[in-house]
Amino acid sequence: MFNLDKIVRPNIKKLKAYSSARDEFKGTAEVYLDANENPFGDLNRYPDPKQIKIKKRLSEIKKVAENQIFIGNGSDEVIDLAFRIFCEPSKDKAVTFSPTYGMYDVSAGINDVELIKQPLLHDFQINLNQLQPYLDMEDVKIIFICSPNNPTGNCFDDETIEYILENFNGIVLIDEAYIDFSSRASYSTKLEKYPNLIVSQTFSKAWGLAGVRVGAAYANRQVIDLYNKVKPPYNVSALNQEAVLKSLGNLDEFEINKNSIINEKETLINELKKIDFVKNIYPSEANFILIEVINANIIYNKLVSEKIIIRNRTTLIDNCLRITVGKSEENRKLIKTLANLTGF
Ligand SMILES: *Cc1c(COP(=O)(O)O)cnc(C)c1O
Repeated sequence: MFNLDKIVRPNIKKLKAYSSARDEFKGTAEVYLDANENPFGDLNRYPDPKQIKIKKRLSEIKKVAENQIFIGNGSDEVIDLAFRIFCEPSKDKAVTFSPTYGMYDVSAGINDVELIKQPLLHDFQINLNQLQPYLDMEDVKIIFICSPNNPTGNCFDDETIEYILENFNGIVLIDEAYIDFSSRASYSTKLEKYPNLIVSQTFSKAWGLAGVRVGAAYANRQVIDLYNKVKPPYNVSALNQEAVLKSLGNLDEFEINKNSIINEKETLINELKKIDFVKNIYPSEANFILIEVINANIIYNKLVSEKIIIRNRTTLIDNCLRITVGKSEENRKLIKTLANLTGF
């Protein structure tokens, strides 16, 4: 049985959260002389530490209660805080899969936590047989599942994910950075069923706000309370909160841009099929396409010399390149340049 109390680090359990001036007084006053702020200027006040307006809006859109939402300084903060809440440095472990998003490894390293990387199968699905022993290990505290997975572009089988959620007594953090491009439903609708689930999403991809640095986590209230306790009090700036609220107020634009990217992806795939050194185009539920080519390093470098930058992933998956779907004219420029490449 999952028991949150058993897997939280003792020092975090004991920790008393920083209480800001705005935490103690709720409501609107006429005179604020409580936080040593400067009375002059437009950005002179500390931002809302609880990001109430964003949570209200997200709660309506995602059908998740406000107290089941955490707002972070990018989803990188969601990942980092998970290590800090649940993993005792140089003792506890976490598990993820390979190839996947590189930040789990970096964040584990910073927090002095061993990250076990299980190779994915040939179709980039999870090898449940190999994972099985880790599900019962007491010092394994978190399993990171990136679905749709970066850089492979596929979603993992729901049966596998649900099996892990049901049979692992630690935290299952599902990173849904690309979920809006996918045909799958978000796991944020399954919080009631799984007390050990954290779903991480971001404003950096489908919402077009990578420059803003805002991410969100959805989990049960007890887990969100831990996040709130550990986070820096003012982790999301007033400017960032404003930018997110503005985007959340324009769902039409969100849909239009997202659909345009999805359509462009189909066009790009069709064009890539015509290029003879492209050996394989992996199915993608994200806003990028992983392709296998005859020689990734040569093609990558030739594109760089044409001032076109894609991501060379050959060290992770032999001769694979990851292409982010751009604007129509950008994608056309890429295709035109690729079609003109010769000499290998
Ligand atoms: C891009 C990406 C993110 C986004 O991180 P932010 O800190 O929110 O910008 C998270 N997870 C994965 C797998 C990504 O590819």
